[in-house]
Amino acid sequence: MKASFILLSLFVTVISSMQAQVTQQVRAKRVTATQNQFPAKISTSATETNKKSAVLEAINFPNAYTSMKLRLPFASEEKTYLVQKTGHFFILHGDIIVGDDFPKTMAYSTPDFSFISFQWANATMPIVIDPSIYANGMGDIVHAAIANFNSQTELCLVPRTSQDDYVNISFSMNLGTAAGVSKLGRQGGGQPLQLGSSATIGTVMHELMHAAGFYHEQCRTDRDNFIKLHEENMQDDKKNQFQIEVGTAQSTYDYCSIMHYSATAFSKNGNATIECMINGLPVPCPDCLGNRTSFTQKDIDGIDKFYNKVSRFPCNSPFPNPNRQQMQFPGIYPSASQSAMAAFRQKADIAGKEHFAGAFPNFHEAKAGINTVGGTIFIKSTVAVWQDVPLAQLGNPSIDDFAARMRATQNYAVANGYLGGFPTYHHANYGSGIVCGTVLLGPAAADWRDVPIAELGNPPLDDIGARFRSANDYAVRNGYLGGFPTFHHANYGSGIVCGIILIKKTAGEWRDVVIIEGPR
Ligand SMILES: [Zn+2]
Repeated sequence: MKASFILLSLFVTVISSMQAQVTQQVRAKRVTATQNQFPAKISTSATETNKKSAVLEAINFPNAYTSMKLRLPFASEEKTYLVQKTGHFFILHGDIIVGDDFPKTMAYSTPDFSFISFQWANATMPIVIDPSIYANGMGDIVHAAIANFNSQTELCLVPRTSQDDYVNISFSMNLGTAAGVSKLGRQGGGQPLQLGSSATIGTVMHELMHAAGFYHEQCRTDRDNFIKLHEENMQDDKKNQFQIEVGTAQSTYDYCSIMHYSATAFSKNGNATIECMINGLPVPCPDCLGNRTSFTQKDIDGIDKFYNKVSRFPCNSPFPNPNRQQMQFPGIYPSASQSAMAAFRQKADIAGKEHFAGAFPNFHEAKAGINTVGGTIFIKSTVAVWQDVPLAQLGNPSIDDFAARMRATQNYAVANGYLGGFPTYHHANYGSGIVCGTVLLGPAAADWRDVPIAELGNPPLDDIGARFRSANDYAVRNGYLGGFPTFHHANYGSGIVCGIILIKKTAGEWRDVVIIEGPR
């Protein structure tokens, strides 16, 4: 079915630049604290005196460990932990904030220890990105991590508007050896997630997973079936980094989880602190142990299971990045634009006759007898709507620029609560300005995803047909009816990603339609 939709790859200069969606709200830090007040989260039985003395100890010996009784999220009882004073925080397990000397610390003291109290409502985690992140060149990795959550999991990270509870991501030079630190689960108010200069995209994903409510994988209650710990190789003050917690693990044990320690974590001599076991026998650990690159499928499944219990608003648009690299869209040869528009109009006409909301070509063509047929995705009118939208409301894209109109339609769709959209490429003027036929997809019709261009087979950005075919093939490989590119792309620091709309199998049908009758 690979087809002959050939475009002259003639580069014209750049036409338009990515629409920066600068809606980011950056709030001044509301916490201005000061007094070294021991966090409220230690055991309710701890006396004021005990709190103060522990703080003093920690302050006098900045890297010293101090003993703290904590009832951690999801735990049924208190346990004693060694925690390390790092900057403003008391840190457990290397990077989990269990106390701070800011006044707003409801965490670990809430009387309600049910799962729900640490979950983010509606599976939506509001985020504030502090200006210090951008000032220290960390913007791209933070946005890349957020994009990975939004495109791969049920948990949706959105810019904070007025929500009471949110994660405040900021830069810190006071994290000691940690690349990042975070609280565990929703804690109430603006909770800190801090990153040091050694943080990577994987670090940010790891810390955000803590904020979402996940412990380290090797702390699971079933971990002794899968790993053996070697205390003799552990640094003495790190031995209780490996305490078992009840936690929120949802899937089976995952050596490759982005939440698992590496084999030599907290080793004092370079020898393994973690050995892998199957059926009580040592086995070589997989190379992926300690992965800080990407989510595993079990990480994704875990997040989805923990969060899909609640209804949520679809996470259907990219998290706006005020510092996104300004990528320029390649010019597309005008005749290629015109051919593509004609292909869309033909499909729109068939869709109209057959009472679908709309249809688009997937740009796969084949011979059927003497005719040439083209793959077409039809969208049901129960999950999408067709509308005439004034060109001005679309931002006045050039009427001759196929890709600019795709982008403009997608922006319009998202701004109006739809998941995505595409033009019919019919337009008219009924006397009050140009209106453009537009198909708008609801959340039941499709999903949106940012896909690395390499996963799409690196289609040339100025080749309309190649981009449609690659998006459609990607969609089909991932269990969808079909898909199309939004013609938005961006680089968050780890290569180009392309916006793709994935049409659900229940949303319509795929069919070959005759596009040229008779021999070519
Ligand atoms: Zn961690």
